[in-house]
Amino acid sequence: MNIVFVSSEITPIAKAGGLGDVTQGLIFQLQRLQEKVTLIVPKYSFIDEKHLQSIKIHSHFKSYEKGIWIDNTAWTAQLEGVRLILIEPHHPKKYFERSEIYGYDDDIPRFAYFSRAVFDFFRHENLCMNILHLHDWPTALLSILYKDLFSKPTAKIVLTIHNIEHQGRCNTWDMDDIGLESSVYKEKLKDPIYPSLNLLKGGILYADQITTVSPTYAKEILTKEYGYGLDPLLQQHKDKLTGILNGIDTDYWNPQTDPYLMANYSKKLSVKEISLAKSINKRALQKKFGLTEQKGPLITNIGRLVAQKGPALIKKAIECTVEKTGQFVLLGTSPIPEVLEEFSQLQKSLPPSKALFFFQQNESLSHWIYAASDFIIIPSLFEPCGLTQLIALRYGTIPIVRSTGGLKDTVFETINGYTFSEFSEEAMKKALSNAIQDFVENPKKIANLIPAIMNEDHSWLVSAKVYQELYQKALIS
Ligand code: ADP
Repeated sequence: MNIVFVSSEITPIAKAGGLGDVTQGLIFQLQRLQEKVTLIVPKYSFIDEKHLQSIKIHSHFKSYEKGIWIDNTAWTAQLEGVRLILIEPHHPKKYFERSEIYGYDDDIPRFAYFSRAVFDFFRHENLCMNILHLHDWPTALLSILYKDLFSKPTAKIVLTIHNIEHQGRCNTWDMDDIGLESSVYKEKLKDPIYPSLNLLKGGILYADQITTVSPTYAKEILTKEYGYGLDPLLQQHKDKLTGILNGIDTDYWNPQTDPYLMANYSKKLSVKEISLAKSINKRALQKKFGLTEQKGPLITNIGRLVAQKGPALIKKAIECTVEKTGQFVLLGTSPIPEVLEEFSQLQKSLPPSKALFFFQQNESLSHWIYAASDFIIIPSLFEPCGLTQLIALRYGTIPIVRSTGGLKDTVFETINGYTFSEFSEEAMKKALSNAIQDFVENPKKIANLIPAIMNEDHSWLVSAKVYQELYQKALIS
């Protein structure tokens, strides 16, 4: 198959969260399964070209916005054997010459223009493809451009919903601006809640197959509680909806070879050797950042501090851990200043020897923390798949999670972690207390659990094969 991915993120050159990791892991695995994969991404100015091989200009083409045709350069490059096309618009608003991927007032026009530019690139190149695989709202609009404006739309479209909370709500003029007459789409794309249009809704309507990132989340988004207004529409299209669990890139996330660790280890070592290596990582982290040794465990949370991740429960978990002789390391960022302020206040109220807060995006530090920690707590309100629990399992760090979405599909009480169902402080504290109690009173149980969880296979292989089957299904639909 000739598969073209179009995404706003790809690790390691443009990552805001899980989407970048998923794009990377899935394309690498599909390539290993002998599929021909091309990935199209914006050429963000912050991209570090040292990660790319053979980068060169491929072509120049024009793309439409607000009645004028704007110049673009298409670059080609290789990312560990996968063909990348990077679209560089020479747009007066410098759409991709910013320091971040998202978070600007003009995010809608930026990604609408990117979709339009990819469409014009297709026209310019006569690209041969069977499957066009789109990801979340930033590229959902391409499904409409491709099916309604392309002269011969032969490829089938697969849309993956990585997080239904973000839908790309926009104005009618955003459609007109890129040459889609809003009068035609006003009703079709009408947002179910707000007086706006909805790009993800367009993707759901136009895709031949829709996937989301775990079987449980596929069921959850059909309900009012999790569907963010799109549940009735998804109910109508549920025949084309499949939940496929994300994997992780097990070459990249590998405690045996990870260059950021103070001591490497693998599941093949003895229980004792693994415990020793993990404790070397832990002691080094404690020493470097002024944490004292504690009787209780080192617990972490790594992620975005936004409502989805349950920041109020994370704060309670930090307090509870410190109270119960443990210590906590938080590595998080937040686009919400109030949330950061609350966490800073909490930091000030706790002894620095027991609670360490990093308000930053730090890839290398995240690897070290995964290896050094005894537990990771993930009390999400909803979690489409979640990668942090999968990475933690690979590093022998036991997850304590709220059973929702992909967390429910990957973490099981007494088998590989500690779980709770109700989104409440009480339920979270019960699971956390059980974990701490086992750590203090039953160290043998915990030590034996570590190699067992490291032995689980969360590589992309199984899921990539399911995607292959889905592409075949799309081709005959
Ligand atoms: P989401 O996509 O909702 O943010 P996921 O659990 O799917 O959450 O993926 C999060 C990814 O981002 C993981 O690879 C995690 O290690 C990484 N990550 C999150 N926050 C940070 C941070 N502050 N520094 C480094 N890596 C982070």
